[in-house]
Amino acid sequence: MIVIPLGVSSATPTAVRHLPSVALWREGSVFLFDCGENAQMRLLQAGIKRSKVDTIFISHLDGDHIFGLFGLLSTLQLQRRDKTLHIVGPQGLKKMVDTVFKTTEVELEFDIKYKELKDGFEHEVVLEDEEYYVEARPLKHTKLCIGYRFQEKDKPGKVDAEKAETAGISEDAQFKALKNGEDVTLEDGTVVHSADIVGDPRPGQSFVYVTDTEFCENAIRLAENATILYHEATFGEPLKEKAEDTGHSSAQDAAIVAKTAKVERLVIGHFSARYSNQFLLLKEARGVFEKTWLAYELRPIFTNPAQEKDIISPRVEIIDLKDKRAQKSRKTFKPEAKRKGSFKKRRFKRKPANARYYKSDSDQSRRGRYKKPYKQRPEEDQSKSSPHRPGKPLPITPRTPFDDFDRF
Ligand SMILES: [Zn+2]
Repeated sequence: MIVIPLGVSSATPTAVRHLPSVALWREGSVFLFDCGENAQMRLLQAGIKRSKVDTIFISHLDGDHIFGLFGLLSTLQLQRRDKTLHIVGPQGLKKMVDTVFKTTEVELEFDIKYKELKDGFEHEVVLEDEEYYVEARPLKHTKLCIGYRFQEKDKPGKVDAEKAETAGISEDAQFKALKNGEDVTLEDGTVVHSADIVGDPRPGQSFVYVTDTEFCENAIRLAENATILYHEATFGEPLKEKAEDTGHSSAQDAAIVAKTAKVERLVIGHFSARYSNQFLLLKEARGVFEKTWLAYELRPIFTNPAQEKDIISPRVEIIDLKDKRAQKSRKTFKPEAKRKGSFKKRRFKRKPANARYYKSDSDQSRRGRYKKPYKQRPEEDQSKSSPHRPGKPLPITPRTPFDDFDRF
């Protein structure tokens, strides 16, 4: 599975952070957790086709978590989607969507199957497939807010073909039976035990989405032994009271949930706009639970990098941490100071309007200097010096559970 945070801001977007939404890629299907404004654009930028979205899980009906849904549905309609779309969320969700499209006089031509959860529910499996299921539990917020766990079912162990042949297994049906855990009796009466031939079942991976909640038991229940827990960390501990008043968690709360539930990896997101430096929150969480990462928009997190690498090609530049050349170019990029300096120089070297009347030698040399910046300006040169030129994607580093955070 690949987890791609699309927006990590809470309540209001900032200049650099978008409203909440997280995409989960699994075997070609995409599951969306919340759908804040801009979610559909962020999907595109992450290299994910909007038509691949199969199910959308909405945590609660606050605008910042859902206002992107109408735009996304509208796009799917224009794309002439014919696949059914599943939407899961609190009661009132269908009415909200219907009202918007009725008012705009648009009739959606593809099927939407809603699963609405009522206030007071305790636990429910909201989606089930042969290979996975999704369970939901209520969290603790100012209104009904739902946490989700996407769980892959365990896969049967691998059949050791060499061992099986030595034991005398040759037919497909016999292999199948062994794989299903059944013992096989051969013609000569020998019994071949499944346990001797088939390896241990491979545990499925899981992704847990917990946002807009105070510290609560249900978050821990959902997150038990999860591969990745995405938990909100709206505030830091110094604003604990504010967090409780507004039904949110601090970074420390998120870390306590992760530690108690023994998750493999905690990813914190949903940051209040007041934190331009979210490393404060990371530091706080890591004080309790070391295996914590900050959610970075569009930076994918792989649960199985050996299989998943290169599946999604984000429309952003990926820097491989093992590639020394790429790292070098990354180090040479000094954004603010350098750019400001060169801008200043250019301003002072601008040719004055009456420059052509300068006659003396010293004036000549000054005229030479005026020309220089203009010569340096062609497009190609500029493109080499600034990795932030328009059209050039921002560098993004893919994450695997085996990386550690490199910039703290
Ligand atoms: Zn929120």
